[in-house]
Amino acid sequence: MASRVPRGNLLRSLRCVTRPLNSAASSSAISAPAVPPLSFAEKPETSPAVAAADETPAGSATIFDVNDVEKLFGSISTARLLRASANLHVAAMEPVVDLGMWVMNSKLMQTELVRSVVMETIRHTFYEHFCAGEDTVAAGRTVMRLREAGLRGMLVYALEYATDNDACDRNLEGFLRTVDSTKSLPPSSASFIIVKITAICPMRVLERASDLLRWHHQDPSFHLPWKVDSFPIFADSSPMYHTLKKPEPLTPEEERDLQLGHERLLKLCQACAEANVPLSVDAEHTSVQPVIDYLTYASAIMYNKNDNPIVYGTIQAYLKDAKERLLSATKAAEGMGTPMGFKLVRGAYMSSETKIATSLGYDSPVHNSIQETHDCYNDCASFMLEKIANGSGALVLASHNIESGRLAAVKAHELGIGKVSQKKLEFAQLYGMAESLSFGLRNAGFQVSKYMPFGPIDMVIPYLLRRAEENRGLLSASALDRHLMR
Ligand SMILES: Cc1cc2nc3c(=O)[nH]c(=O)nc-3n(C[C@H](O)[C@H](O)[C@H](O)COP(=O)(O)OP(=O)(O)OC[C@H]3O[C@@H](n4cnc5c(N)ncnc54)[C@H](O)[C@@H]3O)c2cc1C
Repeated sequence: MASRVPRGNLLRSLRCVTRPLNSAASSSAISAPAVPPLSFAEKPETSPAVAAADETPAGSATIFDVNDVEKLFGSISTARLLRASANLHVAAMEPVVDLGMWVMNSKLMQTELVRSVVMETIRHTFYEHFCAGEDTVAAGRTVMRLREAGLRGMLVYALEYATDNDACDRNLEGFLRTVDSTKSLPPSSASFIIVKITAICPMRVLERASDLLRWHHQDPSFHLPWKVDSFPIFADSSPMYHTLKKPEPLTPEEERDLQLGHERLLKLCQACAEANVPLSVDAEHTSVQPVIDYLTYASAIMYNKNDNPIVYGTIQAYLKDAKERLLSATKAAEGMGTPMGFKLVRGAYMSSETKIATSLGYDSPVHNSIQETHDCYNDCASFMLEKIANGSGALVLASHNIESGRLAAVKAHELGIGKVSQKKLEFAQLYGMAESLSFGLRNAGFQVSKYMPFGPIDMVIPYLLRRAEENRGLLSASALDRHLMR
């Protein structure tokens, strides 16, 4: 790590050559639940994150502060801070992102020289900024650095979907090595292992099983011989347009592939239970989410015991049926005495979800406005926080949204939950993003994790492209960081 220099002076002198913060005082605190909902459309000239941070609502107790740069970034080396600031500024330049994406998708990448220049450039910029390293050893070093800064690491072996069983077996080995690597780290410095079901079960069978589960939901007399105990995965409002006609039963090969996928997940759960590190299952496209939830809940029934959730599912609040599904799954989990953990996200596949639904002539499954998504996210968060206060369930609030972070922090504070002594609430942001929110929540005494993808650079390119897309422009999730790091 680079050597440290007196931070206050440097941060102050950096400020002198740039625009000052809009807020009256740089140490203004985010507090109290009285901020009116942000309207992104009404304030195009200022990012919502920056606007949220700059408004200091009057009233009740201060919960966390995302404006005091010295308190927020005091634990990061100066060189790292400067590099981060440069990377975030470049990532926000739309023409740079457009050019980068064009080159990555063009035939130019088939030319060895171009490819190696592009890959080396990415390695020393976005890869180093958004990824935790090439392998478990490098990822472990990153976890240790986070630990020094008072944060924890979610280990994400950054695999995308697999098409056959051999690839799934190889992927499982990678996930198991990741679990194993946590044993040499200080206890609980690695907060979660992350898995994508599409990396351990072939995509085609996940789509077929999701079709069958949808049909079974509409017609419970439709027999699924392979189905085991799970929680409800649909709500009355869940869209069914992916499955417009009665699907054929799984062939014996498909049934075996699904069984193998389930067994891989159980092996991973077992390894996590032995290492005492929870496993969080990512949410993906709605075309395969039914079977992802089904497998997640079936595994949770087996592994979540004695108030210790090993398996966490993910709810995407941008979906219109998100809250209803969360309510019915938690109710069923409580009925069975299973402590269920959820990661709550807004959702990362908005444009493809809308495109598929529209192409089939149906409404998008995604809320009609971003405000509805925000409301749904905050409602689900509030619901789960109350569950935790009443002694059931666990929650990872995965978001870069300052307003959601603030509302949840205030509510958790009011309910007397969520501080480090109580392990049922975790806040989480992506590695390299929303640092001000992470450090603000950490300073307020909450447990905070960074979602840390790692793996060879070729493997994480799809993830980096998604981050480039998310960071582009003024309204991006890292706007507040760029603003504060100036
Ligand atoms: C730790 C962590 C884990 C994650 N895991 C997953 C995962 O498993 N699965 C997954 O899908 N995503 C995952 N994500 C990504 C996440 O879903 C979001 O894409 C990302 O975090 C941005 O959302 P935000 O909460 O930070 O809020 P903001 O930046 O405030 O909101 C942006 C989000 O709002 C929604 N939105 C934007 N415009 C509209 C509109 N017009 N109408 C309706 N909704 C709109 C979209 O979901 C968009 O991503 C994860 C993120 C984090 C931080």
